[in-house]
Amino acid sequence: MNNVIQLLPDAIANQIAAGEVVQRPSSALKELLENAIDAGATHVQVIIKDAGKQLVQVIDNGKGMSPTDARMSFERHATSKIRTSQDLFAIRTFGFRGEALASIAAVAQVEMKTRQADSELGTLIQIDGSEVKKQEPVAVPVGTSISMRNLFFNVPARRNFLKSNPVEMRHLVEEFQRVALSYPEVAFTLYQQDLETYNLPSGKLSQRIVGLFGKSYQGQLVPCEELTPHLNVKGYIGKPESAKKTRGEQFFFVNNRYIKSSYLSHAVSSAFEGLIQADQHPFYVLFLDIDPAHIDINVHPTKTEIKFDDERTVYAVIRSAVKQALGAHHVAPSLDFSL
Ligand code: ADP
Ligand code: MG
Repeated sequence: MNNVIQLLPDAIANQIAAGEVVQRPSSALKELLENAIDAGATHVQVIIKDAGKQLVQVIDNGKGMSPTDARMSFERHATSKIRTSQDLFAIRTFGFRGEALASIAAVAQVEMKTRQADSELGTLIQIDGSEVKKQEPVAVPVGTSISMRNLFFNVPARRNFLKSNPVEMRHLVEEFQRVALSYPEVAFTLYQQDLETYNLPSGKLSQRIVGLFGKSYQGQLVPCEELTPHLNVKGYIGKPESAKKTRGEQFFFVNNRYIKSSYLSHAVSSAFEGLIQADQHPFYVLFLDIDPAHIDINVHPTKTEIKFDDERTVYAVIRSAVKQALGAHHVAPSLDFSL
């Protein structure tokens, strides 16, 4: 008899799991931003150096963590967001897997500073590749600051896989835009190499869109809303004149979570049919609000794909919402509300 199976040490298990969660600097940024929002932050600052290869830092003014939780948060499957499998069907937070911080700390050098409002002192923790280097009390503002340095310092093969700075920066800005769009009431700033590139005060969605994509959208946004028993659709579409040849600024959010869906995207473009040329893409930022029991966001680790239990109804409601919005603004060729 020859037994050969061993349990992997945590550091290695975390490094393997990290492959699913942290592909590049922007995937870490997404997780850190989502944690800041889940913590109830009203102001979130992002600092990027060397396209995130040197530094990705997120500073929030959310509820912070106790010293014990600060240490716990880096354990795999450690989460404050769900407790039972039932909770999986009623998720209203971004996070629930409890994997992000463990994964990030497995493949980077991480420093966390955090304080809760009722504690005088906060906690500083430094972790390099899953190894805790330091934990001590520290005087910090209420909230949490997490910096991730030298991503993949201990996995050279993956570090070499990172793309050029402009490409990595584009991914970072995309993640920033998605979160900033879905929380216009939260103020965001983004610094790149000490330069402030976005300063978005708390405001309305239309102001956030202009803040992110530029003044050319002023006066070009048509409100879009449809409330049904199954789901609500709210947001803005761009007037047909603002359609572009590149498919960039198109956003669906389901319960405030950015999702990708070519099927639902088709629902919008089909509503624009006849109003824009075949090679043009309309602007849209649409929020779908749906009972979490009717969706499954558990299908993909980075959670940009979700399953609806009735995708065809969702398609029909979106198409009708967009058609009505276009009709109400007298831009439709005929007032055809049929589906
Ligand atoms: P998840 O978000 O899936 O729970 P994470 O690994 O991202 O998993 O975070 C683990 C836990 O650490 C969270 O459940 C939360 O309790 C805590 N946490 C992480 N980031 C923050 C933050 N910015 N502010 C307050 N608590 C945080
Ligand atoms: Mg999280």
